[in-house]
Amino acid sequence: METSHTEIGGEALKPGFALAARLREAHLAVDACYQCKKCSSGCPLTFAMDLLPDQVIRLALLGQEDLVLRATTPWVCSSCETCTTRCPNGIDIAGVMDWLKEEALRRGYAVPQEQVSRFHQSFLEAVRLGGGRLSEPLLLGLYSIKSGKTLEKLKSGELKEEILLGWELARRGRLRLRPPKRLKGAPEIARMFQAAQERP
Ligand code: SF4
Ligand code: SF4
Repeated sequence: METSHTEIGGEALKPGFALAARLREAHLAVDACYQCKKCSSGCPLTFAMDLLPDQVIRLALLGQEDLVLRATTPWVCSSCETCTTRCPNGIDIAGVMDWLKEEALRRGYAVPQEQVSRFHQSFLEAVRLGGGRLSEPLLLGLYSIKSGKTLEKLKSGELKEEILLGWELARRGRLRLRPPKRLKGAPEIARMFQAAQERP
């Protein structure tokens, strides 16, 4: 069946421009997008996305909040910033993806990639506990707990394999076991985390 240009994924597009305005307020303006698709053609993860990065930007510009906030794409995005670097109009597509994840959580949308969300939470928690610096073993430990699969992995032997792999990576200098040095600005970082948590 032919898809109407006023429909996407079988759903009618609802006019509205509030999303683009909010992105503008967050210094993530998408208005200049002229759909050259350089962002999507450079993105290494389009195979796993339900909307291409250029489609996310177009739909955001058209105010299709529900479609972009429900999309898998922002959760699949690895923040590699290739799209942002390639955009001839200086649109921070990777920043938009981050903003959409935060907005989707704030507004109670279901997370399509639960483990990705848990990884993000573990990453931020590790940075917070490290006073602004990331300890890789801490991140791995936190993610292992948050993923809720520790017991399952222990029973299957997968956890042992992961620990051995981690040890091998550390032996080859690819994983730093020692915690990073504390930053002078650690109290300021703590205040930033506090302010972010208190944000409505
Ligand atoms: S590269 Fe920039 S201008 Fe081109 S489609 Fe992507 S967001 Fe739009
Ligand atoms: S930042 Fe995200 S959307 Fe952009 S190229 Fe990388 S994975 Fe793709």
